[in-house]
Amino acid sequence: LQQSDLDLNQAIRDLLRMIRRLIGEQITVDFIPGHELGNLHADRSQIDQVLLNLCLNARDAIRQGGRITIETENVLVNGAFRESHPWAQPGRYVLMTVSDNGVGMDRETTTRIFEPFFTTKNHEKGTGLGLSVVYGVVKQHGGMVHVYSEPQKGTTFKIYLPIVERSA
Ligand code: ADP
Ligand code: MG
Repeated sequence: LQQSDLDLNQAIRDLLRMIRRLIGEQITVDFIPGHELGNLHADRSQIDQVLLNLCLNARDAIRQGGRITIETENVLVNGAFRESHPWAQPGRYVLMTVSDNGVGMDRETTTRIFEPFFTTKNHEKGTGLGLSVVYGVVKQHGGMVHVYSEPQKGTTFKIYLPIVERSA
């Protein structure tokens, strides 16, 4: 893990051009950057990989007239997450939300998506590794990931990464 100070809004802006090119013109990708986000201590290439994996999944889930929205904000997290993410500390986090208006998932599917090799795609399209990588990166950074999805409505992933004081 090669961690250094990371301005997440800038990292997302830098990656948007590539994401839009990979995703194509049929799908709108919006970015709503939060103000005074705070400083992350993070591995830039791994955070890029997280965002890319989430956006490619969103693309695969979208049929027509699709929209992907990426949003960042600074949030205060209390202890309510302890059960699912015992390593995460209470405090301020950067929340990165990636939502789509694609086909969504049923409840049963959402419980399995972070397992390595779990995929609902055919073997040319999906390896089932994207979200297990997302989970691993988030965990290594002391963060959290939550998914909210509704069939025929869409899916929202929420990635929480802890804020740290800027190192000298
Ligand atoms: P892959 O994309 O190779 O199938 P992932 O680990 O990236 O593997 O995703 C696992 C599964 O989670 C997908 O096959 C799909 O069923 C589901 N999934 C992930 N993201 C979304 C999304 N945005 N909308 C609907 N289903 C999704
Ligand atoms: Mg994937």
